[in-house]
Order: sequence, then structure tokens, then C-alpha cells
Amino acid sequence: MPLYRRKFPCAVCGQDVYYDSVKQTIKCGCREVHVSNVDLTHFVRVPKYDRHIYREKLELPIDCAKYVTDSVLYICDRNSIVRQGEDPRLIVSWINYPKENKVQLKLAVTGNFHTEILNYYVKDPRNWKEKLWILIPEELVDKLIEFLQKNPMKLASWM
Ligand SMILES: [Zn+2]
Repeated sequence: MPLYRRKFPCAVCGQDVYYDSVKQTIKCGCREVHVSNVDLTHFVRVPKYDRHIYREKLELPIDCAKYVTDSVLYICDRNSIVRQGEDPRLIVSWINYPKENKVQLKLAVTGNFHTEILNYYVKDPRNWKEKLWILIPEELVDKLIEFLQKNPMKLASWM
């Protein structure tokens, strides 16, 4: 969702000025105008934000989460032999994606990651097909399914 904020506020209302590259509009506290060409050097991209549909989130104490970047592996392991208390948790929630009202399932992982330098691989990690892994113990899968069945789109179709 390309949204940009101007580096300096509106001279009239003093509020932030936003450029929406999809709608092709510039908007502040006092006006919204259509524009065809905007010099983006005066703007910074606004990060995407999530709007949660339910307050309720599912938090699962998973076994392990890991991801690889270049030759470094980031690992958060419940049974880590490197150190204790890494406590990986999968946070599952339903969110509304900005502006398009697009419902999405969001998976996030919290915990303390440690790093390991990969030196035992046979193929360059940059060429690995898989880059991120989340391992969920079987006994937690039922809780996950239960949460997934609360799909807000399906709930809405009942009404
Ligand atoms: Zn203004």
C-alpha cells in the first residue's frame, strides 16, 4: 500500500501531508487534491500497518522458529542447548490490511533468537529454496485450527 509522508508539514494547517500513489492524491488536514506527478524526493514511504480485526490473538508456545540470511541462521528454540529461555511463541491474528479492507491471517514469532554461522552446508544458503521455518508441536495444531475457523470472512457470510 504505497503511502508517502512529506518531510515537511502543510504550511497552512501544520499537519502531515500524505501522498497516496494509488489514488494519486495529496492529503493534509485542510485539503485533498488529485495530482499526476509527484517528486518523491520530498517524501518518505510510510510503513505498512496492520489493523487487527479481533482483539483476541492466539499465542502458541511453539518448539522452534528459524530463518536464514546469507550464511547466518537465526534460531529461537524452546530446547536450545545454546542458552535457556529463548521461549519461541507463535502469535496468530486476523488483520485488516490497510485501505483495501483485505482480511489476512498474520503469523508472527516472538522470542529470543540466537545466531549460528552456517559452515556445514553443501549448497550456498542464498540459494536455498526455504528461508524461514516455524515448527508447531502436534498438540498445538488443534488450537491453531480452532482459531483459523474464526475466519472473519466466513463469519460475515452467516449474517
Ligand atoms: Zn493543510
